[in-house]
Amino acid sequence: MEETPPGQRPQPQPAHASPPFPAAPFTPPPRVFSPALAARGTPSPGSGPGHAPAHLSTPPGPPVFSSPLRPAAVPFRATPASPHPVPFAAAGGGYSSSSSASASQPTSLAPHFLNGAATPHGDLAPAPSPLQGDGLDNPYVQFSANKVLKQKKLLNAPSLGFGALVSPGKEVAPGPEVVERDPRRCLNCGAYVNLYCDVLIASGQWQCIICKKLNSSEGEFVVSSKQDLLHWPELASTTVDYVQVGNRRPGFVPVSDSRVSGPIFILIDECLDEAHLQHLQGSLHAFVDSLPPTAKIGIITYGRTVSVYDFSEGAAVSADVLPGNKSPTHESLKGLIYGTGVYLSPIHASLPVAHTIFSSLRPYQLNVPEVSRDRCLGAAVEVALGIIQGPSVELSRGIIKRSGGNCRILVCAGGPCTFGPGSVPHSVKHPNYAYLEKTAMKSMESLGHEAQRHSTVIDIFCAGQCPVRVPVLQPLAKCSGGVLLLHDDFGEAFGVNLQRASTRAAGSHGLFEIRCSDNMLVTQVIGPGEEASPDSHETFKHDSSFCIQIHSVEETQSFSVSMETKGDIKSDFVFFQFAVHYSNMYQAEITRVITMRLQTVDGLSAYLASVQEDVASVIIGKRTVLRARTASDAIDMRLSIDERVKDIAFKFGNQAPKSKLYRFPKELASLPECLFHLKRGPLLGSIIGHEDERSVLRNLFLNASFDLSLRMLAPQCIMHREGGTFEELPAYDLVMQSNAAVILDHGTDIFIWLVCYS
Ligand SMILES: [Zn+2]
Repeated sequence: MEETPPGQRPQPQPAHASPPFPAAPFTPPPRVFSPALAARGTPSPGSGPGHAPAHLSTPPGPPVFSSPLRPAAVPFRATPASPHPVPFAAAGGGYSSSSSASASQPTSLAPHFLNGAATPHGDLAPAPSPLQGDGLDNPYVQFSANKVLKQKKLLNAPSLGFGALVSPGKEVAPGPEVVERDPRRCLNCGAYVNLYCDVLIASGQWQCIICKKLNSSEGEFVVSSKQDLLHWPELASTTVDYVQVGNRRPGFVPVSDSRVSGPIFILIDECLDEAHLQHLQGSLHAFVDSLPPTAKIGIITYGRTVSVYDFSEGAAVSADVLPGNKSPTHESLKGLIYGTGVYLSPIHASLPVAHTIFSSLRPYQLNVPEVSRDRCLGAAVEVALGIIQGPSVELSRGIIKRSGGNCRILVCAGGPCTFGPGSVPHSVKHPNYAYLEKTAMKSMESLGHEAQRHSTVIDIFCAGQCPVRVPVLQPLAKCSGGVLLLHDDFGEAFGVNLQRASTRAAGSHGLFEIRCSDNMLVTQVIGPGEEASPDSHETFKHDSSFCIQIHSVEETQSFSVSMETKGDIKSDFVFFQFAVHYSNMYQAEITRVITMRLQTVDGLSAYLASVQEDVASVIIGKRTVLRARTASDAIDMRLSIDERVKDIAFKFGNQAPKSKLYRFPKELASLPECLFHLKRGPLLGSIIGHEDERSVLRNLFLNASFDLSLRMLAPQCIMHREGGTFEELPAYDLVMQSNAAVILDHGTDIFIWLVCYS
């Protein structure tokens, strides 16, 4: 297939049918199925007023390069530098969308130094109030309603549904109580001891809230009064971080240089035309300048071959070249690893060489259209992984060396992988394209998993007008815990995202467990992970937890958890326990346990009054967008929103007198508005130019935190008046005024309306 004749012009590709979704309740976000990063269309002018020709502004000035915030000493927690961390810069494109400085990948956080030591005798949290549902202001968890309806039929009604958004990796200040020991767990079901457990103070036994079994505390909880139990943070707070800094180093107190940062490999497409290359060179120069002196980098370029740059030569640029048509052999990797070359080198030693290498890059020379150029992206990633793993490849199978910290591979791609492992034919008109694409996707998926097993995150940054075959590249990024982003060009937004990718704080080896009491069960989880296989974690005799493996534990992620009850609920409270276990970037093992309970109610109006409309909207939005895999699915999903609103009115509203119509419940008044915006906005509507961009946005949305998800769902509309004042307008009132600029902030994109007088 490498020999497919060139000559195909870049063009938008038809959306592909996607593989069937797994029946399992955990549903990862879909792959992106429209492959082309094709020329962006001009806007459909339909939304503008007829008389005034709308001139779309140029985007606000690109973000200025600045050194990303560098992490200071953070043992176990950090405080966000900005109160609204958001994941990635706008993918750009679209007629009026622009990269926005405010919607960018999180930088590493500017942390407060908090001593990691436990403070068991510090401030005692007040005992939980006996009547209220608790944890209503827990920073990690937001429920779609703060009360649980006892009647199964209505609680489970799928049009509204019940669920929670959980951001287990979120950093808040002050962080949760830190406890430096292993958590105490129910031997029967694996649930963690918590503030709602009944403790028999005479014997020290505690009753599990999930399975109700009694557990021993080996006498630890034997105290003279219940009040004394509050000395244990886990018996006093809804959220506790258990921290193990490793048995090897007891008493280890992390200090500023203890952040273990893995190496960063930069992979560069050799097939760029001059203009693109110049942009990329600018971004790369700025990127390496932004790295801390201790950061280790490696540089690889790929085309028909893989060139691994050698830093040992000093000022002279030299590279070892491997074939790109096949995976690197064991022998060739050994040659690199045990040879004299230095392929990963700290910035303080190699910065001038890195600059020289970037300056020496040359544009593509042959007269071959962009889409038909040979790019061995897969082989290049394999070589980078081989070098990152280093001599550990020598270890016998099954033993995986835990390298220090997350390594990163940053791929700068101007086109698809068309040569060697994971490649697709140049043209989608290739007679066997569908089959070859499937094979390529599988191979990229397993390469992504391989990277993940070696704590290596692969971020793929695409730019330019050449279709990059998103369906093939997405699994590589996703399975490793990375992201794929599309950019219009390799300019500053691209460069800023590179910087942020290299510094974003991430934990690895994440496992997320969900446990609920009283017959509540998890029916669907949407978010950045996949259902964990039972042998990947400790299990208990009667463990009913729902477990998800998280590829990369990050600040701005969230999981949307949908739940149902198996029967009418009898008890006064339902308990929910969310636990996430991961290694942070200081190589400490963290187990964050969040335990919450919600009061149950009989009355529908009490339930409706407790509904958090924004949270409910975001959960509904994620469930809807998950099913919008193609452009035609998106149209179906727009229609399904109308049906959903009708069904909510029918099930939860009142029938108007002398009418067959149902009134929409007034407690949920803002829900239909949010869903209306979902229909029209970038995720399902046609506000963004190309299906490819919508697909990438949908992927971001499905993994995004509550704040960003809500903004992507329902925009904030701001009007700029002459004289320089801003005024927030209701977003449904998008009336264009002749004397004002209107700014629509959709989270990842900002749409600006300017009127031109002619
Ligand atoms: Zn239990």
